[in-house]
Amino acid sequence: MFREFLIAGNGPAGLYAARVLRRLSRDRILVVSSESHPGYSRCLLPNVLKGEREEKDIAMFAQEWYQRNGIELLAGVKVCRVDTAKKTVLTDNGREIRYGRLLIATGADPVMPGIKGITAEGVYGFRTILHLRRMIRDLDRIDRAVIMGGGFVGLKVAEALTHRGIKVSVIEKLPRLLPRMLDETAAGLIENHLARAGVEVITGQGIIEIAQKSGRVCGVITEDGIFIESGLVVVAVGVEPNVDLVGGSRIKLKRGILVDDFMQTSEACVFAAGDVAVAADYKGGTYSYNPIWPNATAQARIAALNMLGYRFRYEGNISRNSVSLFNLPVMTGGITWEEDGMRQLVEVYHSERNVYRKVNLSPDGSVSGFMAVGDLRGVPQIFREIRKQSRRGDKLYRGSGTAALIGGSLNGCQYFIQPYKN
Ligand SMILES: Cc1cc2nc3c(=O)[nH]c(=O)nc-3n(C[C@H](O)[C@H](O)[C@H](O)COP(=O)(O)OP(=O)(O)OC[C@H]3O[C@@H](n4cnc5c(N)ncnc54)[C@H](O)[C@@H]3O)c2cc1C
Repeated sequence: MFREFLIAGNGPAGLYAARVLRRLSRDRILVVSSESHPGYSRCLLPNVLKGEREEKDIAMFAQEWYQRNGIELLAGVKVCRVDTAKKTVLTDNGREIRYGRLLIATGADPVMPGIKGITAEGVYGFRTILHLRRMIRDLDRIDRAVIMGGGFVGLKVAEALTHRGIKVSVIEKLPRLLPRMLDETAAGLIENHLARAGVEVITGQGIIEIAQKSGRVCGVITEDGIFIESGLVVVAVGVEPNVDLVGGSRIKLKRGILVDDFMQTSEACVFAAGDVAVAADYKGGTYSYNPIWPNATAQARIAALNMLGYRFRYEGNISRNSVSLFNLPVMTGGITWEEDGMRQLVEVYHSERNVYRKVNLSPDGSVSGFMAVGDLRGVPQIFREIRKQSRRGDKLYRGSGTAALIGGSLNGCQYFIQPYKN
């Protein structure tokens, strides 16, 4: 059989898949990546911005890892088209590359809203090493920055810039910070905590224009017409999956690339994983777009196993977020918003100590989600309870087995491979 594995994307989804493929197969593995450096952790970019890590510390694997494992990396090259009939991809440097199995792991890019001034110099998304380098280069010439969006990426950047001595304003269009993760009380604790750390937080106001002088940002204008001076604007209002490469093919989209339970797209031999994919939700019956690291890597492992011809079902996307902001830990998991029939239970609330915990209970009494601020004791156990409710029940792929498979030697692997049987 013609078995050549081609992976588009060199982020965690692409690399976790490559690792599983190499453990279990001697076939050719080629990773094509539009970024020109070996894969790294985006989650740690704020730590580099903050100055507590160096760029070299955030690489996922060293350059030698690719060589040692016989994984070819075509870096700085973009896949721009997929031809599923010919089983080839076309790259932006004009190469046509054949594949036996293709994994699309092209991740996502920051959404840049179409407001006036968005292309001014000094306005960045925050997703790549290039964004990071440009921002660091700018730090000497600025003393104020605006973060557009009060989600977890925006707040991490706010913290990092504050550590660098920059005066930061976070502007969130919705009425509270972390609006998709937290309720009003939890968000209020964080807002006060940030204010004490010197961060200005403005909620319930969108930015309608980025003001510029000689092509460079000099401030932002909010919906209420307030001008906030700023030498740097970080746009952190969400991400859009990188799906351009499948344009013109028959691969189905549902915002991202739609995959089945085995991470296969609507076309044979083409799989997708990570921030580019829309996959089954753990509750069953629905699909969700949940662009976080643990979902990306779990999907990648499942995709790789299925690319190899095994039959492994994905347990489903589970929402989870964990962040520490000026030493205040925050974690959420599962469904944190209110749904029909759900009971919400505030277990702990000490406003003066910044501690809050709320759990969501399904009508049958099981925990379906939680949010915790300040004190995370017992939280991993709550998360495990939520995870047990995966729609896969005991047919769920063996998470610990797969972990052993990834970490263990080839010899031990067969033991853990337990193809899903209906
Ligand atoms: C600042 C920041 C902090 C974060 N913190 C957390 C956190 O604390 N916890 C958490 O769970 N998640 C966090 N995330 C999200 C997490 O980093 C992503 O979920 C994860 O990186 C997704 O991995 P991926 O491989 O699917 O995509 P990506 O990491 O986006 O990698 C995709 C790769 O594909 C390349 N590519 C794109 N298009 C093409 C193409 N056409 N051809 C070839 N290559 C292409 C891209 O350049 C990129 O290198 C954070 C993200 C950011 C930006």
